[in-house]
Amino acid sequence: MSKNALITGGTSGIGKYIALELAKQGFNIVLNYRNMKDDTLDLKKEIESNNVKCLLIKADVSKFDECKQMVDETIKELESIDVLINNAGITKDTLLMRMKEEDFREVIDINLVGTFNMTKNVVPYMMKKRSGKIINVSSVVGVVGNAGQSNYAASKAGIIGFTKSLAKELSSRNILVNAIAPGFIETKMTDVLSDNVKENILNQIPLKRMGTPQEIANLVEFLVSDKNSYITGQVINIDGGMVM
Ligand code: NAP
Repeated sequence: MSKNALITGGTSGIGKYIALELAKQGFNIVLNYRNMKDDTLDLKKEIESNNVKCLLIKADVSKFDECKQMVDETIKELESIDVLINNAGITKDTLLMRMKEEDFREVIDINLVGTFNMTKNVVPYMMKKRSGKIINVSSVVGVVGNAGQSNYAASKAGIIGFTKSLAKELSSRNILVNAIAPGFIETKMTDVLSDNVKENILNQIPLKRMGTPQEIANLVEFLVSDKNSYITGQVINIDGGMVM
């Protein structure tokens, strides 16, 4: 029987590549999006060309009720959720002295509370099935911190504590929960950085280049596959050696 994977923020950047990779591996895909993009319907078609189903569901992950509705709709259509990828995330970078309270709250609400909202709604179905894989997308910034990103770093560090706690809570039901911590990956999130900032970052990366969303998708594909049956509660850095 084919398996089903739900990916939040799945229509761009890292989420899009994860969706395409998992579709290639035979997963039916639930693509969550916040804003429809010009190429979203083409992405749905590309996913379906792998002979799998693709549901497109609009929901803001920071809203608990919208997450519940998305999970209910998925269960109605596909009957189970075998893999949950908590990928949706934003940045609102500035130094603490300039950071407004709403900039702090919004980043926490989407990145951290959004991860809770989705996981809370999906886990009962995984528990019933006594299996499941959850991948939470953290960041190296959540591991080592970064000036100008205190809100983002706090949200991503929170995701790490959440991941480790759930790995312990859910192990008896054979639900594996891991976090990945990408370094600097070529997406619209990093497009906005100036050439100067990019050059400084490259100097800190032993492999001397940014990562690609496909490289992240390759790691996720392994972690959610049947090949991974013994890794849980881990934070896996994927960053060209930036953090060791
Ligand atoms: P991206 O292209 O900006 O993708 C982020 C996705 O999240 C977008 O599709 C966005 O949808 C969605 N999203 C944002 N807020 C949402 C909400 N409230 N509800 C539902 N979806 C929402 O950036 P990315 O680089 O692929 O980021 C993906 C994840 O990787 C994020 O968690 C990010 O923190 C993490 N990450 C990225 C890097 C990097 O270097 N790129 C490094 C470490 C970690 P809209 O476009 O419609 O807003």
